[in-house]
Amino acid sequence: MALVPETVAKLAAAGFEITVERGAGAVAGFPDEDYTDAGATVAESGALLDGAEMIVRVARPSADEVAAIAPGTVLIGFLAPLTDTEGIERLQRQGVVAFAMESVPRITRAQSMDALSSQATVAGYKAVLIAADRVPKLFPMLMTAAGTIAPARVLVMGAGVAGLQAIATARRLGAVVSAFDVRPAVKEQVESLGARFLDLGVHGEETEGGYAKELTPEQQAAQLAALEERVPDFDVVITTALVPGRPAPRLIPASAVSHMRPGSCIVDLAAEAGGNCELTQPGNEIVREGVTIVGFTNLPSQMAFHASQLYSRNVATLLQHLAPGGELALDFDDEITAGACVAGKPDVAGRPGEASA
Ligand code: NAD
Repeated sequence: MALVPETVAKLAAAGFEITVERGAGAVAGFPDEDYTDAGATVAESGALLDGAEMIVRVARPSADEVAAIAPGTVLIGFLAPLTDTEGIERLQRQGVVAFAMESVPRITRAQSMDALSSQATVAGYKAVLIAADRVPKLFPMLMTAAGTIAPARVLVMGAGVAGLQAIATARRLGAVVSAFDVRPAVKEQVESLGARFLDLGVHGEETEGGYAKELTPEQQAAQLAALEERVPDFDVVITTALVPGRPAPRLIPASAVSHMRPGSCIVDLAAEAGGNCELTQPGNEIVREGVTIVGFTNLPSQMAFHASQLYSRNVATLLQHLAPGGELALDFDDEITAGACVAGKPDVAGRPGEASA
């Protein structure tokens, strides 16, 4: 849910009038009564957009949904601006003023609007729980009367927001964790969480925004060769490596999977961008030579209550930024407003929908 009752109450007190689609929050644990108690009106989907100046949602709208949005309306959601060019052009043609949560600048002032981070945190946590559930092993070292059990060995590839949360979660469960990233700056963060930094001898560059740049073909080949040797040492591999706007880097070749022990598990959080493992099937869980490969593409939806709660706080902060006190006041000279706007940015103040994004 893009808004949970807690944030609806805060926004209502701040001057917003909020309408929520009937039944939309039920599965995530937010019944309609909680929304009405918080000050929202509940409406059928057909009447939802009547008079709406701003629409907040989780995922991008379908073509039919875009056609139903009145020109000049503000839309906020995960809109995939780097990969869904067609969807962004459709919003532009419709005259929608669209703000993508992915495009909110990662600056200190916008930290509370950073939905990529909040959802990556949920995904990193859930990935470890899925792996712990699939492997036929305990995670912690146990000393029992029946003997000692060695701890599970977990490798986390990519130590951004999701990777760091995966490391912390696996450590809390008692696993011995290793991790690596192409950004050398991450080593210290990995070690501070009690994991070992695996140096594969491949060091990439960082963009100004702190993201990894895509490796050169030579670096990619070196990384793949090093990993092919190391991956079979682990019971669980959580992969989170991403390069914004590019296909996910290929880190685990099929040959490495075939050398893993039966019962091992890979959870590929990069599945939506094609996957870090060659065998990942986006959206599916498969077993190859006894190794479970999980490629679910929307893990936060499996933890919908807290994923919604965090996302809702991100959305509410952006809403209040764009419409202080509930009055829409878009200032395209502002870094956050300009950075997050992916369609309908005016060429002349106050005339949305006339310039290209
Ligand atoms: P992301 O989801 O784009 O990528 C995940 C990780 O994959 C990154 O750490 C990246 O370096 C790594 N990666 C890419 N190619 C790889 C490869 N070939 N092998 C191994 N690892 C690879 O990144 P993210 O988690 O969204 O965060 C990236 C950066 O942004 C981090 O430095 C993070 O601290 C920073 N950040 C800053 C803010 C802020 O200042 N407000 C907020 C969130 C994140």
